[in-house]
Amino acid sequence: MIQLVDTHVHLDAEPFREHPEEFVQRATQAGVVAMIAVGTSADSSRDVLVLSERFPSVFPAVGIQPNDVVEAGPKDWEVIERLVQNHRNSIVALGETGIDGYWDRTPLEQQHDYFQRHLRLGLETDLPVIIHMRESGEEILKALERAWKDRQGRGVMHSFTGDLALLEACLAWGLYISFAGMVTFKKSDALREVAKAVPLDRILVETDAPYLSPEPLRGRFPNEPARVVHTAECLAEVKGISLEELATRTTQNAGRLFGDRLLA
Ligand SMILES: [Zn+2]
Repeated sequence: MIQLVDTHVHLDAEPFREHPEEFVQRATQAGVVAMIAVGTSADSSRDVLVLSERFPSVFPAVGIQPNDVVEAGPKDWEVIERLVQNHRNSIVALGETGIDGYWDRTPLEQQHDYFQRHLRLGLETDLPVIIHMRESGEEILKALERAWKDRQGRGVMHSFTGDLALLEACLAWGLYISFAGMVTFKKSDALREVAKAVPLDRILVETDAPYLSPEPLRGRFPNEPARVVHTAECLAEVKGISLEELATRTTQNAGRLFGDRLLA
């Protein structure tokens, strides 16, 4: 049986809240050996930590998402720091963080401030950073230049939608590249061309559930971790390899980036 890691799911989100066990169980049946439950705010980060204590295949990432930064009070960042301090051995990443150039709820300057905080904490703790990029490629590169000019951190570009030039820049920073359902959409030929160029030792898969189900389930809400297999199938085809090999490589990569505990 294939083994996959869903490297990005919002398991604390509304559609999963009442019965997360159903979704975790279905994921296990579909070959998802581990999933990373990604926090978006201080509260959400606490929630994903609790979920990870409940389910052995769920691993937490804590952080404040750029669009949620505007609502974060001064205490919220302290919560993130304290969670990392007290649960360093369970937390596998920081995020999600990054820059969103599409939604303008959070002023750009404030988004940069919080992105830098996550990047600095990543360096201090040697935790990888989960980076959200939406119409913000240049801003992301600017931020990395600032934070990592003396010492390079580790991380992943989540739900990557950039072009080849941006891919090259991210690879040069040592980043992993994760693809979500969007790469499976019929009109995503350009993104599939980009996926083809990602080295097999840097590629990851994710659902970003509950959002954007992959083909052939596009439009069916909620997306869920079990559906990551469709994105993996699409990427295997793009790369001209078997689903088994794509699964093996992406799962190894997830273990290397987030820690071997994921696959134990
Ligand atoms: Zn997300």
